[in-house]
Amino acid sequence: MHQATLHPDETFLELLEADGKFDTNACFQCRKCTNGCPVTFAMDLYPDEVIRLVILGQRETVLKCRTIWVCAACETCTARCPNGVKIAELMDAIKERTLLERVPGPQPQILTLHRTFLKNVRKWGRAFEGTLLPAYLLRSGQFLHKWREGLWGWDIKFGWRLLCKGRFFHFPKRIKGKKEIRNILIHHKK
Ligand code: SF4
Ligand code: SF4
Repeated sequence: MHQATLHPDETFLELLEADGKFDTNACFQCRKCTNGCPVTFAMDLYPDEVIRLVILGQRETVLKCRTIWVCAACETCTARCPNGVKIAELMDAIKERTLLERVPGPQPQILTLHRTFLKNVRKWGRAFEGTLLPAYLLRSGQFLHKWREGLWGWDIKFGWRLLCKGRFFHFPKRIKGKKEIRNILIHHKK
């Protein structure tokens, strides 16, 4: 568990709840959320710890944690919580906040990858691998880096495997509700 800082940000929860409540105060730390989470092995804070730290106003610790990026948004935690705490939604709101405040992620390029992903979904209405990876490589500067260093071997093999599975060079299927998805992601224009 991380140490609490001496000066908690008492507005943190309010800020996160600008678009809706997460009912974090109902949490009695039973850890059912954490016990059901499939990706805790890669987290630096468990989901119940994130809840507690948010309540305690530990803004910096929460915004910089790896957990929010590891979270797969599967909503198991939310479904298991006996008190109706919206844990998965809270994880998403924290991620949004890091984007708004441009808080550097625990790993380089994580914000670039996330922004590229959201842009891809906004454009196609769903994730489309055919443009997602090339866009990320260009945006992150990895394209140039790999080109200069001659590091294309792995990518070419991976691209070939995607091609063989029919994931490349096809157009994404048309989906219903594309406009609604664009409206949901209206804040992510960059
Ligand atoms: S399952 Fe709900 S009540 Fe239990 S620790 Fe997690 S958020 Fe708190
Ligand atoms: S939504 Fe995230 S935190 Fe909750 S169980 Fe799934 S991966 Fe874990």
